[in-house]
Amino acid sequence: MTTLRKIGEFGLIDRLKRFQNLSPQVIRGIGDDAAVLPLDRTRYQLFTTDMLTEGVHFLCATPARQVGWKALAVNVSDIAAMGGAPGCAVVSLGIPRGLSLRYIEGIYEGLNQCARKFGVSLVGGDTVRSREFIINIALLGTVEKEYLVLRSGAKAGDVIFVTGALGRSFKSGRHLTFTPRLKEAHWLVRNVKPSAMIDISDGLSGDLGHILKASRTGALLDEALIPRQKGADLRSAMNEGEDFELLFTVSSKDVQRLIKGGKFFPIGVIAHADQGFCIQKKDGTIVRVAPKAFSHF
Ligand code: ADP
Ligand code: MG
Repeated sequence: MTTLRKIGEFGLIDRLKRFQNLSPQVIRGIGDDAAVLPLDRTRYQLFTTDMLTEGVHFLCATPARQVGWKALAVNVSDIAAMGGAPGCAVVSLGIPRGLSLRYIEGIYEGLNQCARKFGVSLVGGDTVRSREFIINIALLGTVEKEYLVLRSGAKAGDVIFVTGALGRSFKSGRHLTFTPRLKEAHWLVRNVKPSAMIDISDGLSGDLGHILKASRTGALLDEALIPRQKGADLRSAMNEGEDFELLFTVSSKDVQRLIKGGKFFPIGVIAHADQGFCIQKKDGTIVRVAPKAFSHF
């Protein structure tokens, strides 16, 4: 019998695709960091949502302000990963009985801080009672048509980059205070135009896995090149997630320019699909990567 546990979060999302009922106007539905919708002659509308729940994405002792910041920052990160700029957001809260007013205002202080930094207007939401504290945000954005970057554009021979060091995000608390890479994405789409891009929420192996699946390619990573946070081992950098760095691919002609700037780190190359997803270890051996994305089930 097929169970949620067996197919996992991404197996479930794949199965849900057949219920999409997409109007022909929709440019991209399920399957990227945000949906892509028509807007005007030169721009697309982007639409994304992310939900945080107590115990999974933050602990009940986490300062409310940080939970608020994170709840909006994860959505901004998804808009950045499409090459766009964030606009208006709605915020829905599930509030357990007895939660203090101070806590909820703290959430909104964090939301407001993030909103001001990234030019987001908080324009509405919904409030209900729930067992645990839940916060869901839906965020609109816009992107110039020529700057839209999907997960599906990587080509064999492209070089894979990340915007920063990976690993130990949860343990270090970085997942609560990170800066979404909006500035970097803005620069990238105007200067090198990545062939594919995603933000690392589920972990490098899982999120590169998403690019490879969408682009129908393979990849060869170089262990020695993967930038890691202090104290993070390879497993943590590959699989733990919540880094919210951008992972993107560019054609080989742009590589030197990106490396020279010192802000982007090459970690491997895109290969043909039949070569699969592999990593060259520090001792020179090449082994297959089994993507181990964080899955909620
Ligand atoms: P991200 O980590 O970038 O926020 P997710 O892994 O949450 O992306 O989602 C991957 C894709 O699946 C996105 O296009 C998202 O909109 C879609 N998706 C996730 N959950 C659902 C759901 N319950 N129903 C429909 N689409 C979903
Ligand atoms: Mg994403």
